[in-house]
Amino acid sequence: MTAACENRRILLIDDDRMQFRLTQQHFKTFRSATYELDWAATYEEGITKLLGGGHAACLLDYQLGPRDGLALIREALAQGCRVPIIFLTAESGENVDIAAMNAGALDYLVKGEMSPRMLERSLRYALKLGDTLEALRQLATRDQLTGLLNRREFERILGEEKERARRFGHSFALILADLDHFKRVNDQHGHPAGDEVLRQVARRMEANLRSVDRLTRIGGEEFAIVMPQADGTVAAEKARRLCEAIRGTPVPAGGDLKLPLTMSLGVAVFPQDTPNGEDLIAAVDRALYAAKSGGRNRAVLCAEL
Ligand code: GH3
Ligand code: MG
Ligand code: MG
Repeated sequence: MTAACENRRILLIDDDRMQFRLTQQHFKTFRSATYELDWAATYEEGITKLLGGGHAACLLDYQLGPRDGLALIREALAQGCRVPIIFLTAESGENVDIAAMNAGALDYLVKGEMSPRMLERSLRYALKLGDTLEALRQLATRDQLTGLLNRREFERILGEEKERARRFGHSFALILADLDHFKRVNDQHGHPAGDEVLRQVARRMEANLRSVDRLTRIGGEEFAIVMPQADGTVAAEKARRLCEAIRGTPVPAGGDLKLPLTMSLGVAVFPQDTPNGEDLIAAVDRALYAAKSGGRNRAVLCAEL
């Protein structure tokens, strides 16, 4: 769940100072919750504050000069904004209502008809719905055991990265990492110990990556890392570092149990390692297979095969 329940800052984006004053007055009469009102008077200031974070919800005016509130919603969502947005407009008009909802607003209020009670209810509803949507998003995109991005997200990110690499003519790297003899952990110490190892390995890998590198869990003890704009040298260095990070220190497996473990990794670079249109996953799989058959506990580059 997000912290929206504790965060009470609401952003009003409206070019009319009177609306700001009126909304402030409304806020003072709320019965069930107190909110703090922040104000942005222009499109630019609004989008900056909205994307800057720190707001639990946003009240957004339709008329904002040359670019309207609908454009602002679309831009904010395209930039990954998750703040629930309530749309405000001067007149009731079904088309604006539908357009606002289609653009991604969670509710719609007509200024002239808006009572403090209505505003309070709408805010409460938007905050609750925003939390629910965020929880659903987490369920759909995260692996429940480790909290890492799941296989579906991996496939989405990979597609996105290929598209970007093609468009801008740069490369990116894919690392496939698989724990060695992980089945033995389960067999010798039980499934809960295996689960704890997977969580610990996920944290250790995270600690050795940059925030732009996308770490995902794509199978049981199999992880994939998409490294935007990385070449073979950078990716190989990173894969070796990850290998060392697992090998270097025994992995806690619950209680006092610490297990010495190793990991094998394959590295492939797009488009260099897929010259004939070969699937990048097939290429990185070959590299991982070579690491396993070469004795495990190592990183192998597809380009070296
Ligand atoms: P290799 O070195 O060849 O990769 O051998 P391995 O034992 O690591 O690979 P194998 O594919 O034979 O076994 C993987 C094991 O991972 C089998 C499966 O029970 C276990 N596993 C898969 N998902 C989970 C999980 O979520 N939790 C636990 N505890 N074990 C899991
Ligand atoms: Mg394995
Ligand atoms: Mg495996």
